[in-house]
Amino acid sequence: MEMLKNQTEKKNFINEDERRARLDKKNERARAKRRTETEEEKRKRLEKRNEKDRARRREESTQDKKIRLGKRKLIYSEESPPKRVTRLEDKSALQRKHILNETAVQRVSRLAYVSTLQKKRRAAESSEERAVRLEHDNTFKKKQLESESTEQRTARLEHISKIQKKRLDTESAEQRAARLEHVNALQKKRLERESSEERALRLQQMRVFRKKREAVQNMVQSYDDSTAPLLQQTFARTRMMKFHEELSSIDFNICSVCLETFSGAKMTKSTICQRCCRDKKDPKLYSTNNNMDPGEVPIELQVSTQ
Ligand SMILES: [Zn+2]
Repeated sequence: MEMLKNQTEKKNFINEDERRARLDKKNERARAKRRTETEEEKRKRLEKRNEKDRARRREESTQDKKIRLGKRKLIYSEESPPKRVTRLEDKSALQRKHILNETAVQRVSRLAYVSTLQKKRRAAESSEERAVRLEHDNTFKKKQLESESTEQRTARLEHISKIQKKRLDTESAEQRAARLEHVNALQKKRLERESSEERALRLQQMRVFRKKREAVQNMVQSYDDSTAPLLQQTFARTRMMKFHEELSSIDFNICSVCLETFSGAKMTKSTICQRCCRDKKDPKLYSTNNNMDPGEVPIELQVSTQ
């Protein structure tokens, strides 16, 4: 019995040896073939291999998939940082190449696939994972915004407003209601988070804005005919008249020392202004005696002020 077992083992051992040798030979042949293959042959070989891989993945069970991904994770966890960078760069270069060469149908199907994958991933993530993702997204976006040129910025904003306009033009009543609800919820959240200073500032800004709007509305309402120029509107003429009446009711006096014109309140002793009155030097600083009177205004500078 013992002998029989040994014999089987020996047989298995020989078989294993033979199998190895056969495999080695096969691999050597494949390598030799690869060394001499043309670009076209290489492309075909890799395509075939990828197709095979994809087919296998479509068929694999959840368990198998877990094992495969686990193995990959293990391999990736052991790679050095530079190797990792190279791998990821190669991967994105390959992806870019694929994207450049894809047909419209392939593009639509790829984007649909990416979007489902994203939705699935987001639905499964924990609140911490979500926070990390949003933080990461924000940093990335900020970096991108900081490095964009003026043209890029204009193009981006134009693109956004185009998309928004298109969305608003084509939205259904339900979509509209959902959108408004979303906006309200966002606003509510923002209001709940704001500090008392932020609240005070916001209310102040709202008051200023409301006043401005009311002023504009009042002005528009007082127009006789909205196509006529502002200076021909009755309300504007009334106000200008009032302004001139008030101006002419003010008493003006000329200081006998500095020759400046002041309203009555600024004068002491009715003929000398407060400034000249305080000036006890002789001659006074702004006086004719101190050569401070430029004399008559030359004709070239006599421009009508009204
Ligand atoms: Zn004076």
